Order: sequence, then C-alpha cells, then structure tokens
Amino acid sequence: QEFCQQIPKVELHAHLNGSLSNKTIKKLLDRRRDLKISTAAFEKGEQRTMGDCFEMFKVIHSLVDSTEVIYEVTKDVIEEFSADGVKYLELRSTPKGLVESGMDKRRYMDAVVGAIRDYKHDNDDVIDVKFLPSIDRGRSIKDAQENLKLAEEYSISCEDIVTGIDFSGNPYTTDAAKFMPVLQGAQRVGLKSAVHLSEVKDRSDETRMFLSVPPDRIGHGTFLTDEEDVKSSVLESRIPIEVCVSSNIASNTSPPEHIKHHSVWWMGQEHPCVVCTDDKGVFSTGLSSEYFIIANALSLSEEQTLKLSESAIDFIFADENMKAKLKQIWKESKKDEV
Ligand code: IMP
Repeated sequence: QEFCQQIPKVELHAHLNGSLSNKTIKKLLDRRRDLKISTAAFEKGEQRTMGDCFEMFKVIHSLVDSTEVIYEVTKDVIEEFSADGVKYLELRSTPKGLVESGMDKRRYMDAVVGAIRDYKHDNDDVIDVKFLPSIDRGRSIKDAQENLKLAEEYSISCEDIVTGIDFSGNPYTTDAAKFMPVLQGAQRVGLKSAVHLSEVKDRSDETRMFLSVPPDRIGHGTFLTDEEDVKSSVLESRIPIEVCVSSNIASNTSPPEHIKHHSVWWMGQEHPCVVCTDDKGVFSTGLSSEYFIIANALSLSEEQTLKLSESAIDFIFADENMKAKLKQIWKESKKDEV
C-alpha cells in the first residue's frame, strides 16, 4: 500500500462531484444546515446500489450550488489527488446552471478552469490538471449540444486545460442513440472523447454504435466481453479501458472478488488499461488504493506496478510535451527506487 502511495500516478477517470471527500462534504453540510439534507445515502457504506449512488449525486449537487462552491471543491479535490501522488489529473464534470445562485453553465466552466489555474499557480506546478466537460445521458440532447459547444469554445480559449469531453450519466437510461451526433461532433472539432461503455448488462447494441465513432478511451467497459464481436472489436481497436474496480463492486456491477474483475481478463490480453477511481468520495477510495487492489489481484511486483502507472501517460488527453514532462517524472522516480 505504501509503495502504491509513493509512486507517481495519472488519474484519467474522476467525476468532480463524485470525488468530494467526506471532509469536503461535511464542511458543505455544516454550512447548509438550512437544506435539512438526509444523509441516509451516505451512511449505507458497502450496501449501496447503483441507484443509491445516483441519489448521492443528487444530494451532492444540492450542496454544490454556486460558482464559489464549485471553485472551492475543485481545489479541494485537486489537493487530495496531489497528496495521493497524482502528477496528472483529468477531472470531468457536467456543466450546470442554477437560477437561484445566478450560476450558469459558462460560469460553472469558468469556476472549474479558474480553480485549476489558481491551484497550479499557488502550488508550484506540482500537478497538471485538465478538464473534460461531461455530457449526461440522463439529460436532453439540447443540454448535450450546449455542453459540446462550450467544450469546443473552451478548447480554443483554454486549450491548455479543456482537451476533450466525457460521456456519462445513469447507464440505465436506454435512449443513448440520440447522442451519436454529439460524439461525432466532438470528434469533428478535434475534441478527445472518453465514453462510458457497457457499464451495465445488455448494452451491446449501444456499445457497437458508439464504438463506430470511435471513442478515444472507454469508461468501465464492464460487460464488453459478453458479445464475441464487441470483445474482438475492442481488442483489435486497442482503445484503452479506464478501470474503476471499487466503483464497479460498490455499484454491484462486478463480483466482490478483485480477481474476478473484468480488467484482469483485459490486462491478461495485454489490452491497454488505466487504473482510475471514478468517484473517490462516493466509493470511499483513492488512486493508491485502486493500484494496491490491482497489484494484489495480478500479483504485480513493484517494478510492474510502476510500469503500469507509467503506461497511463500514453493515453492522456494532452500533447507530446506534457507526455515528455510526465515521462521525466517517472524516470526520476525509478532512479529513487534504485
Ligand atoms: P459531476 O458531473 O461533477 O456533477 O459528477 C457527478 C456526475 O458524474 C453524476 O451525476 C453522473 O452523471 C456522473 N457519474 C459519476 N459516476 C458515474 C458512473 O459510475 N457512471 C456513469 N456516470 C457517472
């Protein structure tokens, strides 16, 4: 566990509001006693279902209700990832508007980007952070088109921070086909895309459709192996899979035994996989813990674990300069090991 803590790491699948730590949530709850929020969903611990997790997102969203709060929690989350040894972080979040506090989607974007810039400036460049605006499949196509437009605009005005989009939301919604033009649009304007695929069972048709775009990275991919043609097409494509073990177990999409996690099969095929947290707050985890789980499940040596964390650099949504900068950090850390 200590070794996994010490090594440099790359986090590529972290939903901002799902990443709020207990400490941050408690701070917000204390401030907003007027909301009389029930904390039942937070207290369920390991008994949580996927539905409970989405209930928790609703509660968190009611607390993160202004640009000031979004700015503050973004900095908290960056600080926590940095303390866990993360050197490069891609945060994803769904831009939201709220009439009551005067927050609109643009202000939401500005608050996240501002927090990223300020954190880097105030902390001597210890961590590089990108922002992927999310498209929520539980919302309308109009909402998705707006987010895509914002992502495109900010990828020009803040090209060092906004480099792609995320496609996520409740995987039990079934009409995802309507979002195809949005994913194709993102690709047309040069935005990278990380797409949640086959997170729950029986989504093969949808998965085939989205794979035809294709996405640059796959989120979860829990049930990709259910259909032979889907499995072979992903293997052939070499599209990296973002692996979130604790999240899948907590939301009951993977069996509790780590060795049975689908990523073990994909890694056995030498398919590119990146270890990630998903929602470190909601699932009470951290990136070091996720590395520890994978290293144990696959009986990896320290050298192999470090190699796995280094391999993630190839799949970041950033330019070659950033990749070279990160490779240098890993090189230094190998020297320290000797
Ligand atoms: P936010 O976008 O920063 O507000 O982060 C929370 C949101 O991320 C949720 O409302 C979902 O839309 C999305 N999300 C978080 N975890 C998952 C997941 O495991 N599957 C699909 N969507 C998720």
